[in-house]
Amino acid sequence: MTSLTHQLNARMRADFRFAVMSVFALCGVLGILPFAVYRFAIGDVVAGVMDSLIAILIAAPVAWAWRSGSIAGPALTQVAVISIASVVAAEVLGRNGMLWAYCALLANFFLVDRRIALGANLFVVVGIAVLGGGFPENSERVSFAVTAAIVSLYAYIFASRTELQRLQLEALASHDPLTGAGNRRLLERELEDAVLQFQQRPRPVALAVIDLDHFKRINDQHGHEAGDRVLARFAEITRGHLRKLDRLYRLGGEEFVLLLPATPPAGLGVVLDKLQEALRQELRCVDTPVTVSIGAAALHAGESWSDWLARADAALYRAKHAGRDRHIIDHDPAAHTGSVEVQAERRQRR
Ligand code: GH3
Ligand code: MG
Ligand code: MG
Repeated sequence: MTSLTHQLNARMRADFRFAVMSVFALCGVLGILPFAVYRFAIGDVVAGVMDSLIAILIAAPVAWAWRSGSIAGPALTQVAVISIASVVAAEVLGRNGMLWAYCALLANFFLVDRRIALGANLFVVVGIAVLGGGFPENSERVSFAVTAAIVSLYAYIFASRTELQRLQLEALASHDPLTGAGNRRLLERELEDAVLQFQQRPRPVALAVIDLDHFKRINDQHGHEAGDRVLARFAEITRGHLRKLDRLYRLGGEEFVLLLPATPPAGLGVVLDKLQEALRQELRCVDTPVTVSIGAAALHAGESWSDWLARADAALYRAKHAGRDRHIIDHDPAAHTGSVEVQAERRQRR
């Protein structure tokens, strides 16, 4: 029992929508069940069954979310239940029932996408205003429609701002501020996704590890800020030569990773040639051209993302040792990933 409470608390803390659903269900059940008991006690079985049914329908999506671990379907169901129940309650109970609609109008925005919530609220406001059993006068009907619309509008604006801030926070947490490239956390997540997609539907996908050549010299000769400008410019040029679906990440320091979906091994060399040529022409620190070395590898069946990355990294090591300013594509899934020499070099470069 204690462990169940503990798990429930943990889920509520981790999942805001689950918490809103649970609070709404709890209030609904505590508010409706006493009426159900009362109806049964006075022999009004039909009303008792109705009340019990509404309480169960409000609480059921919480149980569904709890058991399945998912939230989108249960939340949408609860929105549908409370929106329909609001209209029914206003019709059956009059003004008393109508007041509940304001809770639903707000809760909808916490539970589902703001556009769906707006649609559900429109249904509630129009439903209650048009059916309007609880309005003795038309002016009251208009007052309800106007106040409910204002509540919905404020909730919509609030939900839009919250969504914008969430997106901004997500972008900050997943991107490198200097270059705008994805950060290491995003890289690992998206490489994992790429491997999963490849397992479900094998389509050629490649990655390239790119390291700026002699970057330490740039810092030493021109200062750290000049080095930073080169990194930002590198990302800008590289992005300018990528297709929409290609992704650039900063692995750390002056090392980057390119994820190239739908790129067959035969096309990979051409893509990297073009990129390196563009960088040779355009990437400069003061007047000195800055070059890059690249190690690349196409994903092989059964390979993990970390082995795939290690293979490209080992190819980069070979490109460095072959004289820099070149790319080497690894074609052998078992090659070079585990050699003591390569591991030591990789550790040194991190
Ligand atoms: P190589 O061709 O073998 O890659 O030589 P390198 O000089 O590029 O490599 P090394 O690993 O010796 O040096 C990398 C340098 O990158 C050292 C570090 O000070 C610099 N660096 C790492 N992160 C940043 C950064 O964010 N800004 C700047 N300006 N420099 C950075
Ligand atoms: Mg370097
Ligand atoms: Mg390096």
